[in-house]
Amino acid sequence: MTGSHVQTVLERIYAAEAPELADIEAVLRITDRDELGLLFDFANEVRRRFVGDGVLLRGIVEFSNVCRNTCQYCGLNRGNDRLPRYRLTGDEILAAAGNVRAAGVKTVVLQSGEEDNLDADWLREIVEEIKSSLGAAVTLCVGERSREEYQLWREAGADRYLLKIETSDPDLYGELHTGMSFENRRRCLRDLAELGYQTGSGNLVGLKGQTLRHLAGDVQFFKQGNFDMISVSPFIPHPQTPLADESAGDLRMTLKMTALARIISRSAHIPATTAIGSLHGRDERPKALAAGANVIMPNFTPAPYRRHYEIYPNKRCVSEDARACPACIEQMVVGTGRWVDYSRGDSLKHVGCAVHTFFNDHDGSQLPVEKVCTAHPTRMKEN
Ligand code: SAM
Repeated sequence: MTGSHVQTVLERIYAAEAPELADIEAVLRITDRDELGLLFDFANEVRRRFVGDGVLLRGIVEFSNVCRNTCQYCGLNRGNDRLPRYRLTGDEILAAAGNVRAAGVKTVVLQSGEEDNLDADWLREIVEEIKSSLGAAVTLCVGERSREEYQLWREAGADRYLLKIETSDPDLYGELHTGMSFENRRRCLRDLAELGYQTGSGNLVGLKGQTLRHLAGDVQFFKQGNFDMISVSPFIPHPQTPLADESAGDLRMTLKMTALARIISRSAHIPATTAIGSLHGRDERPKALAAGANVIMPNFTPAPYRRHYEIYPNKRCVSEDARACPACIEQMVVGTGRWVDYSRGDSLKHVGCAVHTFFNDHDGSQLPVEKVCTAHPTRMKEN
């Protein structure tokens, strides 16, 4: 493509209700330095205009690595019997959440593997305690659960939920997740949106069998889902998984996907993911911040457990003291000419009622899902 052609294609993608696969693929094929510059500058300008220069922080607490799932890329998958499994006690989780708040961070992300016997009431009490005693926003990331469980936690005050689709292609999803259901994952995303969660999804870049067409489909999926948050990570091979010998996802492709996520979503919160900061042992998160990202997720998992939440090897900051994280991140963000935003950073998508649509493969129809906007004033309140 020529420079002016790139610009035309980017403007078309930006303006489209349903961006064309061919346009998205053309962008994903860009390798020329100047054309890449045009892409990243375009995404950076959309980011600047719709979410500003602040970089939001979300403090993550990985409270359990017990998992029933078979995700072929993930070190937590149930077949990895060399991984010591742990689950924090309620008191340990609350102490870690207290450290998040003490660092000035106003969102606690509670993440875990997908536990078979996760006690929904136990988690409800923890959510209630974090909300009442710390006044922080709570994001849950505990996988595919029943609608009743999502409702219980939402009523307890959970504000947000992250559930990456990983890949939006049902066949590729099936190949990478033996015995798991793509339909159920989409059901979860619909339930979460209907229940009024600020909902995040995302994908992995560089999965075995993944093509540019699949990635372009992921961008369309993000657009259709109108998600509040979108997370793009490179796949990093883990030695105790079936994908141990595969190559890692490509940084440049991950940055292109981050830029496209920004261009199609405009105001979604998009992290410079920890996996981008861990790939090949270099911290490339500043590049993601320059390609449309506006969030960083410092890790507050207590030190003894942190190295066991090994979704991929050589994860960034596994041995550092959690309390050192904010200063280090502040330095990185300031180095990019931006500033750390210590506000809650709620969704910017709830001005008016967004309608989520998900394609239903079986009959070709679309299932409209209305966001519950009555919950909006509470969600947007600053603590
Ligand atoms: N169980 C929850 C779920 O399914 O959403 C959350 C935990 S899961 C370990 C969190 C994320 O880790 C996944 O959404 C996936 O994208 C990411 N992940 C797992 N293995 C990875 C790998 N090898 N490289 C990069 N990211 C990986």
